[in-house]
Amino acid sequence: LVSRKKKAEDTVIELQDGTIIGGSESVLIAGPCSVESYEQVREVGAALKASGVPVLRGGAFKPRTSPYDFQGLGVEGLEIMKKVGSEFGLTTISEIVDPRHIEIAADYIDIIQIGARNMHNFELLKEAGESNLPVLLKRGLSATMEEFLHAAEYIVSRGNTQVMLIERGIRTYEKWTRNTLDISAVPIIKQESHLPVLVDVTHSAGRKDILLPCAKAALAAGADGVMVEVHPDPPTALSDSQQQLDIPQFEDFFKELKASGLYK
Ligand code: PEP
Ligand code: MN
Repeated sequence: LVSRKKKAEDTVIELQDGTIIGGSESVLIAGPCSVESYEQVREVGAALKASGVPVLRGGAFKPRTSPYDFQGLGVEGLEIMKKVGSEFGLTTISEIVDPRHIEIAADYIDIIQIGARNMHNFELLKEAGESNLPVLLKRGLSATMEEFLHAAEYIVSRGNTQVMLIERGIRTYEKWTRNTLDISAVPIIKQESHLPVLVDVTHSAGRKDILLPCAKAALAAGADGVMVEVHPDPPTALSDSQQQLDIPQFEDFFKELKASGLYK
């Protein structure tokens, strides 16, 4: 069902607020790695609104490598996303890690994110397939493009056709980036599938200094949008503190991306 052979036209996802993902427009999704407090998310939300970024991200359930790391605020985090989203008229997206939370997600957020570590969680994918919310599916840490599309098929085959794919870097031997951005996945998946394809420049690079060229490369390769992490005070962030942009850095990033002419 996700194949171009089944459907030649691009899938375009239209959110309630009129934001369009896929088709001829680019979308930027920005926000903190984790929701830490109302004030923190609000500060980012205000900056997004001022810059004209339509979608606010923020993790409430955090799938951390170590069980001793900050695990997220859970439902309280989703409540903060809802509050800030409605305050600024932003579309909200947050990761859901448990199939039992898919249903309640609709009470708080506009888009469900399924993270890289859960791309192979088939029960979660099936449950997301029963949801009325659009789903942003991240590529697994070491998933092939074929496995990525099969994971999307799990969602779409359950009836939820509003699926977006996001390349977020894959594991290689390279140490100077957190993951290796597989830019070739963008044109190949666009060729193989009609679903929108985005690129998470932050989790692929894992460093701030190359986000702009990576985002330009993503859009030049045909990506429908970009995701970037933004935090009011990155050094104090409870997760991914080294890779998040502060607000002025984010404003410059978006200004330059638009100036490149690649962001439509
Ligand atoms: C995230 O986007 O918050 C995240 C945890 O990313 P990933 O699943 O790609 O590691
Ligand atoms: Mn993160």
